[in-house]
Amino acid sequence: MSKRSPLRLVATAVLAGAIAATAHALPGSAAPGARDHRWAGTTGEYATASQSSVPAPPRPAKLVPSERVVTTGQLKLRAADSWGSLLSSLRTVLTGLAAAKPATTTTAATKTSTGAGAPGSNPSTKTLVLYDSTGPYGWLGEDYGMMATNLVSHFGAWTAHPVGGYTAGELAKYSAVVYVGSTYDEPIPAAFLDDVLATSKPVVWMYDNIWQLTARSADFATKYGYTWKGFDVSSVARVNYKGTALTRDARNAGGIMDYAISDATKAVSVGEAVRADGTKFPWGVKSGNLTYLGEIPFSYITSNDRYLAFSDLLFDALAPQTAARHRALVRIEDVGPDADPAELRAIADYLSSRKVPFTVAVYSRYRDPKGVNNNGKAEDYTLRQRPLVVSALKYMQSKGGTLLMHGYTHQLDALNNPYDGVSANDFEFFRAHVDANDAVIYDGPVKNDSAANVTARVTAARAEFLMAGLNQPTIFEPPHYAASALDYKTINSLFGVRYDRGLYFPGVLSGGTVDNSVAHMVGQFFPYTVRDVYGSTVIPENIGNIEPEPFNQHPAVLPADLVANAKANLAVRDGVASFFYHPFLGTSYLKQTVEGIQGLGYTFVAASAMS
Ligand SMILES: [Zn+2]
Repeated sequence: MSKRSPLRLVATAVLAGAIAATAHALPGSAAPGARDHRWAGTTGEYATASQSSVPAPPRPAKLVPSERVVTTGQLKLRAADSWGSLLSSLRTVLTGLAAAKPATTTTAATKTSTGAGAPGSNPSTKTLVLYDSTGPYGWLGEDYGMMATNLVSHFGAWTAHPVGGYTAGELAKYSAVVYVGSTYDEPIPAAFLDDVLATSKPVVWMYDNIWQLTARSADFATKYGYTWKGFDVSSVARVNYKGTALTRDARNAGGIMDYAISDATKAVSVGEAVRADGTKFPWGVKSGNLTYLGEIPFSYITSNDRYLAFSDLLFDALAPQTAARHRALVRIEDVGPDADPAELRAIADYLSSRKVPFTVAVYSRYRDPKGVNNNGKAEDYTLRQRPLVVSALKYMQSKGGTLLMHGYTHQLDALNNPYDGVSANDFEFFRAHVDANDAVIYDGPVKNDSAANVTARVTAARAEFLMAGLNQPTIFEPPHYAASALDYKTINSLFGVRYDRGLYFPGVLSGGTVDNSVAHMVGQFFPYTVRDVYGSTVIPENIGNIEPEPFNQHPAVLPADLVANAKANLAVRDGVASFFYHPFLGTSYLKQTVEGIQGLGYTFVAASAMS
């Protein structure tokens, strides 16, 4: 291939957001704010999860990669390539090695994992997910692989493994293939390149190594009507997708591959990346069965960003006949024995008046071991000791409410985890602290993390529901959306259904030792039901919650913000707008949010409609 003109360089954009340490320092992450229990609910579950926002890949070693196939470390050049090109390639490799500052340099395990589709998915749809696993960011490749896998489960069963393990003819067994290219010059088996070029099945290819595919094809540009040009590392804060302006974190320095479309009858732009100066280039290109996205839309995801475009594009590959449908969900959050029964009844009355089914997240034991809210005297009581709360919960059920189990105590022992040990303020299945900058920092699994610990807490909570005369919940929500991989697997065995945003850890998909480090875990929310890599059906929560006041570096979130998020989510053809709400906020914000979402054409449904 001919030489491509170099793109402008952005000297200052060095690895910004490229590695986990940076990503975790991003604002818009941390958690709970409440300093008193009244505002404990402010401890938005989702806010904590966003601290685990997955980083972008490192900035590419070269903005215009050398077009070549990389096979197990060998540089295999096409006949037309010159020694100059070879030397350039070698420099690329060396530069890449020099630039990387790995935490580890292990090669990921290569186990093949499989999973079933989400409830309601097509039993004949099977997706092959391939991800990169080599180099210092192999763990990141697996994180991306997990995120892709979780999403494709919405459509059917899946198989996932590192791309390096691909065998000739493998993709013929699947309905479609999703490849996440996150390691620059990952050695990709020629068999995979050949099969992608030959197949008529949908292929979704993200980011890196498209140059290996074009190198393997004698006539890529002729056949597909476009070719890649080079990474554009301009600041891109917006992606336009089917008439919706979606956001993108402008600090993402991984770049987006730019394209030259030579035949517009074959190659169609899939969304437009909008640079800071207003100029645009294709965010992705679809030609025939091949959809190529110039970036990995999993980094720094928010409720209204281009992750939604990817979530919608999967319908084209995996369920193209899907009709538009927009459903909404609301979950009443952090309801414990300390709840105000009148507030619960008011919420139920309002929602039923709008014919809105809802879910109630209940913890059954209230603890304040340090007496933070009780003049220094410890408090500890359960639902059955608060009959008025129990009767309010039954009233909520009579008005369309479904109770789920939101942990047992929603705090941990007498620890400040991270705040004060008071129920609904603190984490129960993960450790965290507040740092000097007033940010909530995850620390990792709890001290006695085990299946036995989770089971004991769930068993104790079940006993409290029983003794309060309430039916056993069939859905679980980990407090503050945080637990270890072991905990999630245990929760799956006990419930099978969660209603949350999950945390995912390298090793879960590849079958290696699970890497519990918070630097490598990722949080993910979903715009539709999935069955995640832990095997659980996950009922989605994807647009957040009302926060009338800023806390822990988070801005206030008002009904208009949630409605705007819901509007962006209309970009997903069969997606949801799902939020949660604290009853102590009264019904005014709830009314504005519910009616704003209904005004967009959404129909509220019960959690059971999702699973
Ligand atoms: Zn909670």
